[in-house]
Amino acid sequence: MNPERKATKSWASALAVLAVLTVSAANAADPSANDLKRVVNEAHAKYKDLRDGKNADYIPILETVPSDLFGVVIATREGKVFWAGDVNYRFSIQSVSKPFTAGLVMQQQGPAAVAEKIGVEPTGLPFNSKIAIELYEERSANPSVNAGAIAAVSMVQADSEEERWNQVLQNMRDFAGSDLELLDEVYQSEYSTAWSNRAIANLLYNYGRLYSDPEEALRVYTKQCSVGVNTLELAVMGATLANQGVNPITGKRVLAEKHVPELLAVMAMTGFYDESGAWQYTAGLPAKTGVGGGIVAVVPGKFAIAAFSPRLNESGNSIRAMNAIRHIAGELGVGLYGANPD
Ligand code: GLN
Repeated sequence: MNPERKATKSWASALAVLAVLTVSAANAADPSANDLKRVVNEAHAKYKDLRDGKNADYIPILETVPSDLFGVVIATREGKVFWAGDVNYRFSIQSVSKPFTAGLVMQQQGPAAVAEKIGVEPTGLPFNSKIAIELYEERSANPSVNAGAIAAVSMVQADSEEERWNQVLQNMRDFAGSDLELLDEVYQSEYSTAWSNRAIANLLYNYGRLYSDPEEALRVYTKQCSVGVNTLELAVMGATLANQGVNPITGKRVLAEKHVPELLAVMAMTGFYDESGAWQYTAGLPAKTGVGGGIVAVVPGKFAIAAFSPRLNESGNSIRAMNAIRHIAGELGVGLYGANPD
């Protein structure tokens, strides 16, 4: 190698090390309880009058959820919780459930199985895209879109549909440290209109990329999305990831520590579907959204920020929740790539 290039290279790596040290020094001080309390209240106050967007309506019952509900919570890895607004209202978790079941599959079959049998690439397309299934060789593409999430459910190791569902539900309960329940009305509303997701399940099966009976996977997936959760419980689910896989309230290990970075990487790359780039660009945190209006973001090793409000933008992401989380991340300077301005 040309010595000049070598010298430049070692300078470059010295600078890179320095940059990493500077970033970690900047992030080293954990925000105080007062800071966390302040930013939660601020985020709620700042966005409570924002009425942009509208409730999801392709699942008929979601249109009836009161649109003005708005809750914001931070849950720390030590199990401290800071909240503002309607944090006790139970809404359907919808796609925020997806990384947690992907975690269960990682736990049972290892991360390589998730990468090979589902995929980990962003699609740049909406969450219910059928074009993505035709376009990409992985077919299901990643665990955050419907195709990948239905595939993940089909990979849960189970001998019966009941066992598959019980495992999916128990895993979410363990992440939340709470006995989450199915919202049956949401399930009936969603399953009776699930033509698009049925098409996705059948397409995947056709390509050999679904690993159980398609209708069974569809039913269990739809139940998974219809689980009720409040913003406090959602924040604890995220805090379990912030706490390297141990639920900070119950102390139970839910996911092996070594799988947490892979799961957070999937959330960072794909958690907002065709808006994942814009989300990383402005908030800099792994996060997952759902059409019920919930979003959970994780500050690895520190805390989770959850927010809920039903009005969505075109990509199916809650406008108030996105703004609230982005505000908090910006104020605390906890974006993974450096402090993002609010
Ligand atoms: N259950 C919803 C669906 O399959 C989840 C979509 C979402 O939250 N983005 O359409």
